[in-house]
Amino acid sequence: MLDIDKTKALINKNSTSFYAFEEDEFKNNYLDLLNTFRSIYSDYNIAYSYKTNYTPYICNCVKELGGMAEVVSDMEYTLAKKLGYSNSNIIYNGPVKGEKLKEHILNGGLLNIDNIDEAKNIMNIAKNNPNKFIKVGIRVNFDVGAGYISRFGLELDSDEFVETINLLKTMPNINIVGLHCHISRARNIDSWQKRIDKLLYAADKYLNKTPEYIDVGSGMFGKMDPFFAKQFGDNVPSYLDYAKVVAGTMERHYHGQEVKPLLISEPGTTIISNYMSLISKVVQIKTIRDKKFATINSSFYNAGDVCLVKQLPYYVLDNNLNLKTKECKGISVMGYTCLEQDCIAKNFNTELEVGNYIVFGNVGGYSIVSKPPFIQPNVPIFAISKKRNKEIEIKRYESFDDIFATFLIDGMYI
Ligand SMILES: *Cc1c(COP(=O)(O)O)cnc(C)c1O
Repeated sequence: MLDIDKTKALINKNSTSFYAFEEDEFKNNYLDLLNTFRSIYSDYNIAYSYKTNYTPYICNCVKELGGMAEVVSDMEYTLAKKLGYSNSNIIYNGPVKGEKLKEHILNGGLLNIDNIDEAKNIMNIAKNNPNKFIKVGIRVNFDVGAGYISRFGLELDSDEFVETINLLKTMPNINIVGLHCHISRARNIDSWQKRIDKLLYAADKYLNKTPEYIDVGSGMFGKMDPFFAKQFGDNVPSYLDYAKVVAGTMERHYHGQEVKPLLISEPGTTIISNYMSLISKVVQIKTIRDKKFATINSSFYNAGDVCLVKQLPYYVLDNNLNLKTKECKGISVMGYTCLEQDCIAKNFNTELEVGNYIVFGNVGGYSIVSKPPFIQPNVPIFAISKKRNKEIEIKRYESFDDIFATFLIDGMYI
């Protein structure tokens, strides 16, 4: 979470709520994940999940560190290209890919096929471009004990899976070079052993040669504030725990081979959530039938879905910007929207007064990208780095024009 001094410096310059991105901490954590995996299996790289938080400045930090881009739409693909990515460092995933997929795969880009209809579409592109060589991966679906049936990918060993592979193999200019999976809501270590075991089983059984890559998606826990981490139980795995299972299994499986597959993981929340904070001001406090509400100048959309299921880490600054520790039980911290469910924290237990600031941590994932233009435009983001003695604004406050530019007003677009 952003420390008190940095928060103070930013508060003095902003009248709205705002986000702070901790660049140095983000990069250190990124390198920790990378190096932990590489210490066990050297051919490993990170493909950052753009959908989680596609702030271009953050995507560029990943690029600077040598990371790949994992995109799931033409919009995200276009951003990766704008940031200077070559197609071979972009992985195009997702159930509904856009028209730019064609440009992508004809230029050596990686994609993971989700379904048989998409495979047929790729075969058509291959037919119409007989001089181009197309590399494809397959997203594989299997049960890792997540407790629900995932709709993504092709079910391992099913008729449709086998048919898709056989169809693709009939094309002389298509090469199946990789296997992929991504399963959400299953972050425990056992499920990770299953992921890597199933992918390697599929590679041995269905690919004619050693794959160029094995892509395990993500769904790992990242580093967390202790207050936040304890809400996930006592056994939150570390990067090393995951690396021992995933990179360790890869190392044993391909031991002694001269050319090993690239192991890829696609962290999103895993690497960004912990490095963004949301700083908001308390606007009003009221009690209704003994229930205490404090309303702030952010909404639950700014904090992201996570605030609905867990209590975000936080601290409070009083009106002199000193840390506040006085307890007070059971306040609901509510957002500025007109929705009853716009609650950012239930049972908040630090005393609040109008004019206090609340700093919420762990808001980097599914927040900026999931904030609808509902009632208010979005707020700015600042990047903080020790190398500069000044923060930089990496997203400005959205204006009326930003929101209404796409609507016809008085017969005209703005
Ligand atoms: C959302 C998504 C990710 C990101 O996973 P995290 O658990 O947030 O790290 C990775 N890969 C794919 C295909 C995704 O859809």
